[in-house]
Amino acid sequence: MQFPICYHCDEKAVWQRPWDKTNLCLKHFNKSFMRKVQKTINQYKLFERNDIIAVGVSGGKDSVVLLDVMVKLQEKHPSKVIAISIDEGIEGYRQDGLKYATMAAERYGIEHYTFSFEEEFGHHLDDALVLLGSDRKPACSYCGPFRRKALNDAARKIGATKLVTGHNADDEAQTVLMNLMRGDLLKTLHSNPEPKFKHSSFVNRVKPFRKTTEQEIVLYANLNNLPYQEESCPHAVEAFRGHMKNILTEYMVHDPTVVFAIIRSSDALHHLGSLVGDTSPHKGNRVIKECIGCGDPCNGDFCGSCRIINEINSNIKNT
Ligand code: SF4
Ligand code: ZN
Repeated sequence: MQFPICYHCDEKAVWQRPWDKTNLCLKHFNKSFMRKVQKTINQYKLFERNDIIAVGVSGGKDSVVLLDVMVKLQEKHPSKVIAISIDEGIEGYRQDGLKYATMAAERYGIEHYTFSFEEEFGHHLDDALVLLGSDRKPACSYCGPFRRKALNDAARKIGATKLVTGHNADDEAQTVLMNLMRGDLLKTLHSNPEPKFKHSSFVNRVKPFRKTTEQEIVLYANLNNLPYQEESCPHAVEAFRGHMKNILTEYMVHDPTVVFAIIRSSDALHHLGSLVGDTSPHKGNRVIKECIGCGDPCNGDFCGSCRIINEINSNIKNT
């Protein structure tokens, strides 16, 4: 069998880029991967000199690759990289992920801190789901806000100036579709991939893989021998996101560039949002207040996670 040769050299190709059919060897695949991440960092001005960077590491492919990339980039951009993990308390799943996260942090000899839902909110996710009752929403609707808050609080506690997460291009495109299908495209309009929001209790979250596909990340992990947790969360089957993933996966067979097109549309919306600014007719819904429960910035009286805690407490009272 004849293997294709790399477009840039005489080495055997390990991958053909689906959108332009370019064949790449291991060395040039790694180069193009890093170049793309660097371009994303430059485009959205994700980092500043001497940032203290908290990398959210779950032990899955995205976060394990992210840590590898952030450590490599440290040589170019003076900064400090620290790994943080969140133990949601998902029986038979998270403990395994945490092993991979620890392994990844140990590989580079960097500090690694684990925080848990139980310490932060008084409940494991599994317990919280029971307390929320049988007519609760899908697990991710609770886990998502808890996770965001736990990561933000963890980053703040360790003195981080940026919180980095492994959301990839597929995740970002799915989020835009989810907002659209929930009738909440304003969320996309007013969100900002650039770390500009300022609040004393908020650590700006940045996503260097916004333009990197899931396929590239899996390949990078496998070709560079980075072990990661392969099992999916047992609650993922309940997630709305799964439907968006299926739609996109099916469509990407015909057009592998569709995720980039969705992200371009989302960038155009952010740009529009910044032009509309405070004159938006919807600004009444978006006044930034401070949560009565925890003081975090939010749109209503309570932030997402304090609303969930209130719901759990009222269920406990009524039983
Ligand atoms: Fe949490 Fe849902 Fe992710 Fe599981 S799939 S870790 S429940 S957000
Ligand atoms: Zn709150």
